[in-house]
Amino acid sequence: MNEHYLKLKSSYLFSEIARRLTAFQAAHPGAKIIRLGIGDVTLPLAPAIIRALHEAVDEMARPETFRGYGPEPGYEFLTEQIAAHDYGTRGVRVSPDEIFVSDGGKSDSANIQEIFAPDCVVAVTDPVYPVYVDSNVMAGRGGVPDASGRYAGLVYLPCTAENDFQPALPDRPVDLIYLCYPNNPTGAVMTKAALKRWVDYARRQGAVLLYDAAYEAYIREPGIPHSIFEVEGAREVAVEFRSFSKTAGFTGTRCAFTVVPQELFGVAASGERVSLHALWLRRQSTKFNGVPYIVQKAAAAVYTEEGARQVRGQVDYYLDNARIIREGLEAIGLRVYGGKNAPYLWVKTPGRLDSWAFFDKLLQEAHVVGTPGAGFGPSGEGYLRLTAFGRRDETEEAVERIKTRLAL
Ligand code: PLP
Repeated sequence: MNEHYLKLKSSYLFSEIARRLTAFQAAHPGAKIIRLGIGDVTLPLAPAIIRALHEAVDEMARPETFRGYGPEPGYEFLTEQIAAHDYGTRGVRVSPDEIFVSDGGKSDSANIQEIFAPDCVVAVTDPVYPVYVDSNVMAGRGGVPDASGRYAGLVYLPCTAENDFQPALPDRPVDLIYLCYPNNPTGAVMTKAALKRWVDYARRQGAVLLYDAAYEAYIREPGIPHSIFEVEGAREVAVEFRSFSKTAGFTGTRCAFTVVPQELFGVAASGERVSLHALWLRRQSTKFNGVPYIVQKAAAAVYTEEGARQVRGQVDYYLDNARIIREGLEAIGLRVYGGKNAPYLWVKTPGRLDSWAFFDKLLQEAHVVGTPGAGFGPSGEGYLRLTAFGRRDETEEAVERIKTRLAL
């Protein structure tokens, strides 16, 4: 077996949440629990998307419009829309053949490390979306975790209130850097000037930035970059991941894409420069057979006038939830970060409570479930993550309960 799998920490976070919930429910059978910890959307697919799905299904029923295997990187009808709308309208040059349509930002951000050397030094922010860490541990880049849960082989970049959740540049040479903005779990965003420091660093060091923009649609303040390619020079040093999951409710429908620019090169042991676009194309064509035609048709509907309006309305709905949570918690003196250009709220635990103690308090007193920040990395200790993806009525009720029942 691959011994590196033995070094993975067990998924303690969600199993421990489930254990505490079960115990609470057994002790309080009548309690109505509201989950503000979930990272999954609750609104159904928008009508324009549903219509596109139905039409595509009907096409599959007729011999003249039936589709079998499609092009592995995605159909042009979708990649052209992505290039024009996600990038062109923001003045960013990305060509359709640099876009790889996939079944998820999770798989792409987990798989991308395969095209890099096994001994690459990897930097991640702390706290972090666990997929970046675990996929590198599986590949042998993590080494063994210490008592605090940090892997000796990885470089951690702490993000806390003290540094405004902005990671400092690594203090030793690294080859790959995962950045995610708007951030899961902290809800922080990065300004163009801050992102430029990372692009400049990567260019100086010969490093590659793996930029996860899964929550790009939640950015509403002008001036905050939606894509790393808005920064000059990024095309030579960055890969960008995007997803329809939280933008258009595709968590169960599955569609995402990754941009690998033609100017992005790695260096072989021989010193030869190798196109990372070519390597990723090779990887995907060997191990992936493309996203279903009907799903790509559904994704393309996101770019129609009607579809764009509808999915923007859904993101507005979640952003309103975020505002309701933030204002409610701030009203009782809690310190809340994020939730402005992001669906995540990162709440400082009151007093000297640790993440789990605050989780318990919220559960016991308000019957509301969050996610302990410590589960996202050692620097998440002292925080709790709430999400804006719930139903409006439940979100409002949860906030009301927190305001009236939490003894602070
Ligand atoms: N990237 C981040 C930061 C996420 O939080 C998530 C989902 O939770 C994903 C990627 C995965 O998205 P997808 O549903 O496209 O796999």
